[in-house]
Amino acid sequence: MSDKVRVRFAPSPTGFFHIGSARTALFNWLYAKHTGGTFVLRIEDTDGERNREEYLNILKNGMRWLGLDWDEGPDVGGDYGPYFQSQRENIYLEFLEILRKKGRAYDKDGAVFFKVSGEKQILHDAVYGDVARIEEKDFPIFRSNGTPVFHFVNVVDDICMKITDVIRGQDHLTNTNKHIELFKAFDAPMPQFAHIPLILKSEGQGKMSKRDRGALIEEYQAKNFLPEAVRNYLCMLGWNPKNDKEIMDIGEIIKLFDFHGIVKSNARFDERKMAHFNTEHLRALPADKFCELAAASMKRDFTGMEEYANKVFALCQPKALNLEAFPSMVDFFFDDSYAFDPVAKEKVFKKGDPIARLVEIREMLKSESNFDGQALHDKICEAAESKGLKLAEYFSPLRLAVSGLAGGPDMVPMLDLLGGGRVSKRIDRALSELS
Ligand code: GLU
Repeated sequence: MSDKVRVRFAPSPTGFFHIGSARTALFNWLYAKHTGGTFVLRIEDTDGERNREEYLNILKNGMRWLGLDWDEGPDVGGDYGPYFQSQRENIYLEFLEILRKKGRAYDKDGAVFFKVSGEKQILHDAVYGDVARIEEKDFPIFRSNGTPVFHFVNVVDDICMKITDVIRGQDHLTNTNKHIELFKAFDAPMPQFAHIPLILKSEGQGKMSKRDRGALIEEYQAKNFLPEAVRNYLCMLGWNPKNDKEIMDIGEIIKLFDFHGIVKSNARFDERKMAHFNTEHLRALPADKFCELAAASMKRDFTGMEEYANKVFALCQPKALNLEAFPSMVDFFFDDSYAFDPVAKEKVFKKGDPIARLVEIREMLKSESNFDGQALHDKICEAAESKGLKLAEYFSPLRLAVSGLAGGPDMVPMLDLLGGGRVSKRIDRALSELS
């Protein structure tokens, strides 16, 4: 066996691409990147009926979206194909012959059984340590309908594909003893096993399943999450960089990723934390990249107003929560007929006399020939001080009037971007609609 690391992600595409599978793919990919090894995608589709083309496409699409490109496998080929188990029947029959010749396979009730050694096997797991077990019973490797069984094809493929490291979910830990028996029966080099902890659902007990909210990669694609944010969050489900940092660049993660950082305890999926990672990544994007994504998130044509739009996006980037909500946060910059948010309105009208304050601000604007957001801001501050009023009694109604919202970007640059004419018109509309 060559020294070069070869890892594989071996999904059975019988359903949508969920967080747990994506995390397994990711850890394999990270390990390949970390070691300069090869990442193989192998499709374990021996369970014919349930493996649908549609699921395979969702899987490949999700992996590509997450940036988990494979070096060998479907669409890209490689020297150890075919990469679909459904196309490897001849190979399985050859390997069955080897076992028969060694007296390690026999027929019973139409099925083919593997004869176990009866010896104690020790699994040296890179994460869970040594696990000693004796495989007591012979187990089937071909069903009576002639199809090969998971344990057999999984090991045969790992041998043929020269897999050096098997990184997979902890739910396979109990299968591994069977796999060790098979590797030994074939006199094949044993890969290093690294089982990774389960992902528990966000609340209560139990493993995260495909039915749990937030469990599918497609959901994050549809909600316009940043793939690098989802990927970053998945890295932290069962791996600990031990540097008190979680929001990290993938290059840095690749450098640090190894089996020592994988934790044994189960990880808990936290949708809010995922959202937080997304926000952090969004705010940290270079301005030009952010502007591009922000523009794409809006169903508007910015032709002829690119400069203005980019200024709006750049101003709002530090306040952006996610790309899904972003359009509703900045729409007022592009549309004069925005609605006044009822919750914001109620909040503003709870305190003081917002209408009177707006009338005052409207007067200040009249006396100004060259609109300047900072100058208006300063005037408002003076007025508030002289009347002994809180600044918010002016600025909250002003924000509501010019944007329809309770929160948003910084006041002065927002006013400057809108410009004096629009600010005045918007206050007029607010006065007539809110009074
Ligand atoms: N097809 C198996 C699964 O999806 C692969 C297990 C393995 O990685 O060895 O769980």
